[in-house]
Amino acid sequence: IIQIKNVHKRFGSVHALRGVSLDVERGEVVVIIGPSGSGKSTLLRCINRLEEFNEGSIVVDGIPLDTAENINAVRTEVGMVFQQFNLFPHLSVMDNITLAQRIIRKRDKAEADEIAIQLLNKVGIPEKAKALPGQLSGGQQQRVAIARALAMNPKIMLFDEPTSALDPEMIQEVLDVMMNLAQEGMTMVVVSHEMGFARAAANRAILMDSGQIVEEAPPNVLFTNPTQERTKEFLSRVL
Ligand code: ATP
Ligand code: MG
Repeated sequence: IIQIKNVHKRFGSVHALRGVSLDVERGEVVVIIGPSGSGKSTLLRCINRLEEFNEGSIVVDGIPLDTAENINAVRTEVGMVFQQFNLFPHLSVMDNITLAQRIIRKRDKAEADEIAIQLLNKVGIPEKAKALPGQLSGGQQQRVAIARALAMNPKIMLFDEPTSALDPEMIQEVLDVMMNLAQEGMTMVVVSHEMGFARAAANRAILMDSGQIVEEAPPNVLFTNPTQERTKEFLSRVL
């Protein structure tokens, strides 16, 4: 469902992606790990074209990321969740989840509200519909951000370190929601160093370093039996 071919991205003199190629199958869960600055976020951001790339090609669900029209089409199919939840602080939880549904999916208020309520149930916080983001814990805010992305009926979900800004006791509630999504068959690309999640949910784990994919394998294999020196070295620092 995602075909990335030989993508390069430069920020001035920084060569952030150096020829990345990656195919993700429908329903697959791919976890990306790697040191800070290795290009993980840049790669995710290229998939929905939040970032332009300089060379190579990306095709999402058959749509090449080239024309403005195609880029918009891809963005409506790809949901993204960030480390900082990026909720609208002045809007209630409900309004955060219904805004894009009404503007982009052109749903009327009743329909958008109903979908929002279903999704708040799904992420386990139906009682927070009227709250403002600032009244929620970090874990709750991140679950609202996931519900907001899901409300657009994405075919693919991208997660960029969704739990790394959370206090330890809130990490699991967010991982549980992600685990359920994975089990329902959502295609997911997740940048995360939560090895437990990767082992339980991912089909594939990928190590990035210096803008390249260094190694990829099923998580159990990558974490316990890596073949590349750079993978061994990275894992010895984080495990
Ligand atoms: P982290 O684990 O710290 O989030 P990362 O693997 O996500 O790191 P990226 O954020 O993709 O790394 O950054 C890759 C490289 O590109 C880094 O050298 C970074 O400084 C550079 N970079 C990223 N975004 C920009 C930008 N907007 N302008 C200039 N350089 C950038
Ligand atoms: Mg990053």
